Amino acid sequence: LINDFKQSKPHLSQGAPFYQNKEYDTGDIYKDICILGGGTAGYLTALALKKLFNIPVTLIESSKIPPIGVGEATTPIIKGYLFDVLGLNVAEFYEKVKPTWKLGIKFEWGLPGEYFFNYPFDGKDVLSAIIHNNDINYCSLNSLMMSKDVGFISRVPNGEETKHHSLSKSLKYAYHLDNKSLIRYLKEKAIEFGVNYIDDEIIDAVTTNDGEEISYLVNKDYKKYEFDFFVDCTGFKSLLLDKKLKSKYVSYSSSLFNDTAVVSTVPHNGKIKPYTGAITMNNGWCWNIPLRHEDHIGYVHCSEFCSLDEAHDEMKKKFPTMNKDVKQVKFRTGRHEEFIKGNVVAIGNSYAFIEPLESTGLHMIIDQIIVLTNSFFNLKSNKRFRKELNSNMNAHWDYLRWFLSIHFKFNKKLDTKYWKASREKINSSGFDPLVELYQEIGFLSRQDIPTTQLIRSRIKDTIFDVYGVDHLLLGLGLRPKNLSKIKLNNKKEWQGIVENWENILKYSIPLQENVDLLVKHPTLVM
Ligand code: FAD
Repeated sequence: LINDFKQSKPHLSQGAPFYQNKEYDTGDIYKDICILGGGTAGYLTALALKKLFNIPVTLIESSKIPPIGVGEATTPIIKGYLFDVLGLNVAEFYEKVKPTWKLGIKFEWGLPGEYFFNYPFDGKDVLSAIIHNNDINYCSLNSLMMSKDVGFISRVPNGEETKHHSLSKSLKYAYHLDNKSLIRYLKEKAIEFGVNYIDDEIIDAVTTNDGEEISYLVNKDYKKYEFDFFVDCTGFKSLLLDKKLKSKYVSYSSSLFNDTAVVSTVPHNGKIKPYTGAITMNNGWCWNIPLRHEDHIGYVHCSEFCSLDEAHDEMKKKFPTMNKDVKQVKFRTGRHEEFIKGNVVAIGNSYAFIEPLESTGLHMIIDQIIVLTNSFFNLKSNKRFRKELNSNMNAHWDYLRWFLSIHFKFNKKLDTKYWKASREKINSSGFDPLVELYQEIGFLSRQDIPTTQLIRSRIKDTIFDVYGVDHLLLGLGLRPKNLSKIKLNNKKEWQGIVENWENILKYSIPLQENVDLLVKHPTLVM
């Protein structure tokens, strides 16, 4: 995606306002933009539009309505976006946002007992790992690093001294971030980029006579804010797309039961883990997001199966030292029928949301921004084009819905009412053909070219791709029928690769020490 984006860059104006560019008929292009909402969706969008298009961008948010305050585990797509697309400075980002490094997700999931599997971003050879090592966690260097709780910096003896060597350029990784620090930083950068910032509460929006477009926004003193194009980043309220333009809502609740999270923190006593934890609980699962000074935890559950008090009690048993301050976050899972409607595009929770099991929130915000900026010049003049964009975006979200649904359907760890219902009733129909194919013909990532092309046309995401599907299904305990027929990597070659990784691991240092070092020497990850 980021590469597609870079290739399209020469079309964008540089210097002069883009609508003065002779290539475009100025009547056909939106000339100013208002972003309503200042959560991560609002600021990430404002930065891209201002950076790329050099047109007036205004962001209106109400400081009386706080952002959702969660959204802290990311995918590798965020790095390319922040530094290659927006051109932000890595060292400044580390200093102000204080992220930690995420090599993947550790699922305490799957089969009965203490079974877990590491689900790394670079999971390339799960088959060799189970056949040659009898352990799925040998599939990649990221995965082995997660098993040992180490990061990507090695300390190598060099005569009398020690040298530090960083693998940050060769490994795929993402960040864990504190939502508030991220928003504070993005806001500072947006103002620096020249985004016009207004703190005001919008109480209404007035549409054109046919009800198809937004004409202007209104605040409580009846002041009008008039713009050409609007980005709805109002979170679950979806003030413009849902409330005013009446885009239909498509619920995913038959596939994803959860609707509530209980959120808190727990001390990590200086041991920072290099992964997001996803721990099976009686009525859902709990995230564990390691930040520099503490872990952030959240029990995602279904209110039909479990009261708030029950969720809280179960959390306290699992994390006896957790902070007494807890916050409840309610959410709904689904998407709207349109991502772009009239002169409004909705980015973030205002358009769609699925629960955070695979950290897809910021991932999809970035995806949506890239689609918007790549297509911005065609939006006003070409309504048919909008339809295509909507159906592609809907298909991408639906893919994630089905992909997440199988995480629940095949988790056999517990036999509570919630998990029994998940296994029996979850609607995973959109993914069933891929699961059947995997069981019938073997690993989806190891097929001949025509079969691979066919399978790839069903896969809609660049991170949760064929390798991701194979890894997940194997991790959930599903084995293809004809495992013995699949061509394996040469055993000797594979052992050589694993030995190489194990050598690296001998010198890798715990993530806490990575953080301490990087504070002193930020160039180690540049
Ligand atoms: P919000 O953060 O809700 O922001 C809404 C903005 O709109 C605010 O600035 C508010 O002031 C403004 N606003 C609203 N109404 C008005 C008004 N009338 N006038 C003016 N301004 C207004 N994503 C991840 O990537 N990783 C995760 O680990 C993750 N975990 C999550 C856990 C949970 C339980 C939930 C619910 C979500 C999680 N997400 C995660 C998703 C993530 O939180 C969101 O995708 C992301 O924060 C974007 O939120 P937003 O900007 O759309 O909305």
